[in-house]
Amino acid sequence: MDAVSNTSVLVVGAGPVGLTLALRLAAAGVPHLVVDRAAAPARFSRAAVVHARTLEVLDDLGVAGTLVERGVVVPNFAVRDRDRTLLRIDFRGLPTRFPYTLMVPQDVTEAVLHDAVAARGGAVLRGQELVGYEIGADGRVTARLDGPAGTRSVTADYLVGADGMHSRIRELAGIEFTGSAYPQSFVLADVALDSGLPPDEVELFFSPHGLVVVAPLPQGRHRVVATVDDAPEYPDADDIAALLDERGPHSATVVRDLVWSSRFRVHHRLAQHYRRGPIFLAGDAAHVHSPAGGQGMNTGIQDAADLGSRLAAVAAGGDPGVLDGYEASRRPVAGQVVSMTDRMTRAATLSGPAAQIRNLALRGLGMLPPVRRAAARTLSELAYPTPMTAASPLAEASS
Ligand SMILES: Cc1cc2nc3c(=O)[nH]c(=O)nc-3n(C[C@H](O)[C@H](O)[C@H](O)COP(=O)(O)OP(=O)(O)OC[C@H]3O[C@@H](n4cnc5c(N)ncnc54)[C@H](O)[C@@H]3O)c2cc1C
Repeated sequence: MDAVSNTSVLVVGAGPVGLTLALRLAAAGVPHLVVDRAAAPARFSRAAVVHARTLEVLDDLGVAGTLVERGVVVPNFAVRDRDRTLLRIDFRGLPTRFPYTLMVPQDVTEAVLHDAVAARGGAVLRGQELVGYEIGADGRVTARLDGPAGTRSVTADYLVGADGMHSRIRELAGIEFTGSAYPQSFVLADVALDSGLPPDEVELFFSPHGLVVVAPLPQGRHRVVATVDDAPEYPDADDIAALLDERGPHSATVVRDLVWSSRFRVHHRLAQHYRRGPIFLAGDAAHVHSPAGGQGMNTGIQDAADLGSRLAAVAAGGDPGVLDGYEASRRPVAGQVVSMTDRMTRAATLSGPAAQIRNLALRGLGMLPPVRRAAARTLSELAYPTPMTAASPLAEASS
């Protein structure tokens, strides 16, 4: 096949999901092409949490070690109301090779995945925007890509939309994206902090003013995420300090430096289908949710590993019916993640008597080891069915 005009799998989007899929396909020797409309990778840190299940999946692809070297290992997650710990979740007892959450900026995760793709001889064709596609009588897809040199066509057996929340492929396929937007904005900042916060813990503060998450990052930085009714487009160090004063620990927290900040709107939505004929959706194209709990990119990377393993099984001569299992396997996981993060986001912002009841309930439940273990398994995504991986294609293919 001429890889640029005729391939087996056309992957649209070179975010963490498209790159994971490319890596899985490259590892299995499946011909594929990855395109992205952006001329260069995004330089922003965005998703910063990588959970245990995702590390297991990335380990199968040979990249978990490099990622762990470049991140911060954090074994605890605490829910707090100011200085009072309501629930502490310890990941150390989890049945996994990675009993912790890894804090690492998304641009680093993407660079590690991209290097691994390149090491296998793969590349991303950049500056190429998918603007349309047709499905031929033979069931193959011909996509139209606009780029600096004009429009080109690529024909593929399968087209995967890893093209993010505003997925053009989802829209062209007529797949509904059901849900709504949160009324508040989310503020995100990477900062240098002087604080008494533990260095090995992600802190989620509940507050009637809105939630705030403070988590350690490499190079002594911290990630701050907060819901805000009316936030400036690029919050500055004073804005972040004010949020921490209002909602964080009572002890003084000084924001010494602000590396990067952003404000964004968050939706909770789930695609009605993950497949329509030869078209598949993965990652944010299929599901978006509140960043509480840091699940978004994790769920997407696992979608990509699962779908890539199914496509590899079919390319190796397996039953194409295995592709039907993708939606059945991955959509219910995203459904649970959307509702869990929605509950967390709403619970975080209760006030008055409702907040007191919530705190009492959490403290009571938090004293029960089985509850803490279940919470650790859910947050780490180990509670959900294992995505299909290189290690498990035939087991899944025959189920
Ligand atoms: C400001 C911000 C902060 C976030 N913070 C967190 C967080 O704290 N925790 C968390 O878990 N998640 C967070 N997220 C979400 C997280 O970044 C996503 O879950 C993750 O990036 C999804 O990866 P993806 O590969 O599915 O999509 P994306 O990363 O969105 O990648 C999609 C790619 O597709 C390309 N593309 C789009 N349309 C086309 C087209 N028509 N043709 C060609 N290419 C196209 C884009 O250029 C892009 O490179 C945040 C997102 C944002 C925007």
